[in-house]
Parts: sequence; structure tokens; C-alpha cells
Amino acid sequence: MKFSEVVDAYEKIEATTKRLEMTELLVGLLRRTPREDLEKVVYLTQGRIHPDYEGIELGLAEKMVMRVLTHATGLDDARIGRLWKEKGDLGLVAQEAIAARRQRPLESTPLTTAKVYEHLDAIARESGEGSQERKIRLLSDLLGSATPREAKYVVRMVVGQMRLGVADMTIVDALAATFATKADRPRVERAYNVSSDLGEVARVLASKGVDGLKDIHLKLFRPIRAMLAERLETLEEIFERMGKAALEYKYDGLRVQAHVSPKRIELFSRHLENITGQFPEIVDGLRSAIKDRAAIVEGEAVPVDPNTGEFLPFQEVSRRRGRKTEVERMSKEFPVTLFAFDCLLRSEEDLTARPYTERRKALEGVVHASDEIRPSTVRVTDDVKQAEAFFDEALQAGCEGLMAKALDSTYDAGGRGYQWIKFKKEYSAALSDTIDLVVIGAFAGRGKRAGTYGALLMAAYDDVADVFRTTCKLGTGFDDETLYALPDRFKGERRDRRPARVDSKLEPDVWFEPKTVLEVRGAEITVSPIHTCAWGVLRPGAGLAIRFPRFTGRWRDDKGPEDATTAKELVEMYGRQLKQTKKEPASSR
Ligand code: AMP
Repeated sequence: MKFSEVVDAYEKIEATTKRLEMTELLVGLLRRTPREDLEKVVYLTQGRIHPDYEGIELGLAEKMVMRVLTHATGLDDARIGRLWKEKGDLGLVAQEAIAARRQRPLESTPLTTAKVYEHLDAIARESGEGSQERKIRLLSDLLGSATPREAKYVVRMVVGQMRLGVADMTIVDALAATFATKADRPRVERAYNVSSDLGEVARVLASKGVDGLKDIHLKLFRPIRAMLAERLETLEEIFERMGKAALEYKYDGLRVQAHVSPKRIELFSRHLENITGQFPEIVDGLRSAIKDRAAIVEGEAVPVDPNTGEFLPFQEVSRRRGRKTEVERMSKEFPVTLFAFDCLLRSEEDLTARPYTERRKALEGVVHASDEIRPSTVRVTDDVKQAEAFFDEALQAGCEGLMAKALDSTYDAGGRGYQWIKFKKEYSAALSDTIDLVVIGAFAGRGKRAGTYGALLMAAYDDVADVFRTTCKLGTGFDDETLYALPDRFKGERRDRRPARVDSKLEPDVWFEPKTVLEVRGAEITVSPIHTCAWGVLRPGAGLAIRFPRFTGRWRDDKGPEDATTAKELVEMYGRQLKQTKKEPASSR
């Protein structure tokens, strides 16, 4: 298929702000795509060339791409630099530069999707000595035969900024509509949740139809999408729903999915990124702790003070980015313990459809407790008094609270439901609990804040409609350094208009693609006519707002926008707060 046909669809997708229209455009594109290009088109639409967990990424440095543009167009550095300042999007720079290029290409065969994909793949795989030069050559070659519109998307791909705003679940919708019926959508979603690979789902659908999806199984070294929890306010409510339940300590750290075989160990984050290199101590621990030949174990990695044995703040692990020597230093200074809470595969056997009790037994059989890895602390009960005592123990041990799990629950990949319920300490006080909100825009700063942002526009996630709805402006809690770095930090997320999945009555000075999640503490939740979160749920013509929000300093890099606090959770929190304060709904502006 010609790449220009894909670009036609991308331009239309980019221009729409309606999710349904976006899905229809995608369906049109998928229908026109020949089978051999389908997987490639799906990955390109996701803005990548392989599923996340493979860790094969583009993300070329902007400077390098600018050099290639100069070379490929014959325009001078200064002109490319000016365009970059003006547009702030290298894709647009490429489009304009190619349109203005000095010499026309000798060869005028149209670019094919396969050629674009293969070149991008080759660029991503280049490494080692001389790789920079080879990458430059490959990109020059592509741009040499690209039209201006094609160049825009090629360049956006290589810098890792596709800007289409298509969520993975929109692609799931489109795949179901193209290759199956609406009623089959849950099967398509399930295949994605188990494989974390939309390209594979597309390939199977196109070649074998919906029935082929049953052959997509949990596989070692391919992460499964994480099961998520709901929250409830009281232990009584939890027991009402679950009856006798397993209560586990809720550790405050980083979720890790460990895939283990005798020859190989890989660790994945909640976002399915490969984080093996960040936790050498877990890899060592797993090597001796896992008895079976192969296993997939999930747990929470918590930094522990080696001197006192006490848990340390989560931030100590979230900083584990830098070089290998730096990671090794940190793994000695603040080693983590992996508190394992689930076992999804043992030997060759997929356990996800087995009840919790069986998986727990498997977990305890698989993991030898050591300093680096141990099973989570658990108590099975239906007695509120016992549960309260266990909750106090968890807090004393430095945990956030408890996670209740239904004894008969299967592992529902990618799902959030009442099979797992979190119960955290902060529920006793009105909004002393923190919430996680998504940054969707910003207002320009004035006075002391001129040149940076005065406030960020924050949204909660509406998981029913799959959109982000505003709930507050956030301007406090940032130190000067963070504050002045904000425009640069959000450069890649800037959009010219409201992104498709954002619902806002406020018009910020800049819009951002919903991506970054910040932890926020607020004084209370109020009914507000200017925010769209939970619109009309508590009062007609009003949504919910967070009053006096403050950034806690914690960038929730471990959470994607869909993991943010949901509108439904805010409605529930509002209800609890009202019960506690027994006040009339407060109004805010
Ligand atoms: P939250 O991030 O507040 O939505 O809480 C859910 C997270 O708690 C999970 O994604 C895990 O990372 C973490 N967690 C800590 N302890 C447990 C546990 N025992 N079982 C399941 N999840 C846990």
C-alpha cells in the first residue's frame, strides 16, 4: 500500500476531535490495508514500530533530525532552526522544508508503507559504533523520496511524537468493527489484554478471524496488561461485597511483572516497559528464589532502608534511571524488596483463569522468601474486627493500607473491578487522600511566572466514556526549578487544539495530549459550574472540582493517563466527604 494512503487517513484523524469519527476513519484505513501491511499500519498508528515491551524504540534526538533535514533539503541550518522555533513540531518543520527543498529527487517512485516501516525499524535497531551515521543515512533516504505530507509523519515517528491522539482502546474498537462484530469486541479486547500487542491481534484477526483469537495465550517474556482495583470506603462494605476475602498488605512502591526461566529473567513495569536493567537486585533475587523452571510473578517493589529495615518513600525507586553504574550504586544504597502478590504462570501452565486461592498457593510454592523477594503478607477473614487489627498492622509496617481480593477471582488482565478492592488509610479524613490527575493544558504565567505557566489544567479520567474531564487548575506545590522547566518538559505534548479525548469548558493557552499524571492533594471536593468532571451527576449543570489543589511533588511516571483517578472515584469520595462533614454541598468557582 502506498504510504500516501495512510497519510490521507492520518490527516483526517488528526483533524477530528470526535472519538467516533476517529474510529470510523480508522476502520476505513484498516479495510483498505492489504493483509501484509496490516500489522505495520497498526503499529505506526500507535506511534511505534513494535509493541512497547520489546523496547525497540525510535526517539531520535531533535538535533540529529534537524541535521538530516538540512542535508536532505539543501536548506541552511539557520532556516531550519527558525522553522523549528516557529512551529515547535519537527513534523511540521519537515513538511515545510521538504516543500521548499532545493533539488527535486531523481527517483519519483511513491513511498510504500512497507518501505517506511522497514526503514524506521532499521533505524530503531541500529546500535554501536557508527550507528549514528547509519541512522542518518536511512532517514535521509526516506526523506529523499517523501512528499511534504509524508515527511511530516516520518519525522514525527522518528522523534517519537506521532500526535494522532488515538488511544489503544480506539484501535481495539476499530479492529472489532473491521474484522468482527460489535458483540465480539470483548474478545478482541481480551486478546489485547493478554498479549499487549495490537499488531499481533490485527494479524490474527485478518488471517483467522475472531475464532483465531482463542489461540492468543499468556506467554513467557510477553507481559500481560495489569489487573486493577476499585476502592471502597469501609471494611464492612468490602465484606458485604466479597464475603470472606483475602486481605493483603498494600505496599507503596512500583508494580513489577517478573518473567523468569532458568536462562532468562525480564522485568516489566505496569506500563509494560522493560525495566530489567533498573533492578539488578530483583533479578539476582529471582534467580535463587524461584524454584520452578518457569514462572510469571507479579509484585510491588519497595525500597527498604538497609540499616533499619524500614520502607523508604517510593521516590527512591522512581529515580532509578541513569547509567548502569548509577543504578548499581542505588541498588546498594536503597535496595528494593519485591513483595510478590500473584502468580500468573507456573512451568508451562497459564494460571490466570484459576481462582485467587489456587494462584496464591502456586505463588507460595514458587517463591522462596529472601531479602529480595517474598510473598505479600496476607490474612483470610470475614471478621471486621480482625480486619481492622490487620489494617493497623499494615500501617505500622509502613504500608498504605490493604488490598482485598475475592477468593474465587480470576486474573482479569487490563480490567478494573470489585474483585480487587483497595482500602487506604486516608479514607477517614476528608480528602487527605491524594488523587492522581492528568495534565491536559496550561495557562500562561504572569509577573514572576512570565515565561512559564501560571497553572496547569488538570483532568480526571472518565473510564466509561474514555475521555478526560477537567477538575481543577493546579498552580501550587511546584518549586522554582520545576516550575521554570515546565514548558520544556511538556513541549512534546503541546497541541494546537483540544485533543479528541478531552472535555473542557475552560480554554487554556496551550493544550496537551493527556499523558502526564501528577499526584495532587486537595482540601475538599466541591460542585462547580466550570469543571466538566462528573458533569450533571450531582447537580444539573455542574461538575466536580478539587478545592485548593497542591502538587505533592510526585510525578506519577508509573501511571498512564487511564490509570489516573476516575470521575466515578471522585463522585464516591465526594459522597464520603459529605457524610463526614454533614454539610450542604459547597460551591466553588
Ligand atoms: P493504586 O495505584 O492506588 O490504584 O493501587 C493499585 C496498586 O497497588 C497496584 O497496581 C499495585 O501496584 C499496588 N499494590 C500494592 N500491594 C498490592 C497487593 N498486595 N496486591 C495488588 N496490588 C498491590
